[in-house]
Amino acid sequence: MGKKIYPEIKIGTKIGSRTVVGAEIKESRYRFVPAVCDCGRQDNVRVDRLYRKPTLRCLNCSAQERIPLHGVCYHPLYNILRSAINRCHNPLNKQYHQYGLRGIRVHSEWRADPRAFIEYIETHLGPRTAGHHLDRVDNNGNYEPGNVRWVTQTQNNNNRKNSRVNRIPGEKYVIVPLSMVKDEYFNKNSEE
Ligand SMILES: [Zn+2]
Repeated sequence: MGKKIYPEIKIGTKIGSRTVVGAEIKESRYRFVPAVCDCGRQDNVRVDRLYRKPTLRCLNCSAQERIPLHGVCYHPLYNILRSAINRCHNPLNKQYHQYGLRGIRVHSEWRADPRAFIEYIETHLGPRTAGHHLDRVDNNGNYEPGNVRWVTQTQNNNNRKNSRVNRIPGEKYVIVPLSMVKDEYFNKNSEE
């Protein structure tokens, strides 16, 4: 991955709803700037995020703009979460032995409020594209912040078998027949 060098942001610069109020801070491998939102909240915001997604809301503002809870089940990411919860927390699910029985859990905050999951995925991973599945980076880890990513069905199968992924140079994704997607995507249980 080529690293982009983002120019320093001058104090006083307004980006979306935020105004940069201080000099850059380096922490681990990221660059941050203190920025104040129109709502008054101040955060240290990652510089690359400000460049790539200038409309990104602060936590206060995004919480206020949350999707109403009663509408959340229509969100395309909702079924992804439901399926993961079922695999991990519903002993009646046919994949439970590969997930729940192995101690794999879904982050409690995501289970309690699907909006927290949707917000995390959209912010950190981006929306799901055709043929992609939610996968765990560490195969023995949970569905939780920092351990999820989008992969193709092929990558997913390869991870599961722990075999080596044969990457085609420049390949971004493969087209997966709907019959393969269906199982995970529509595997809904009416009760928990
Ligand atoms: Zn705000």
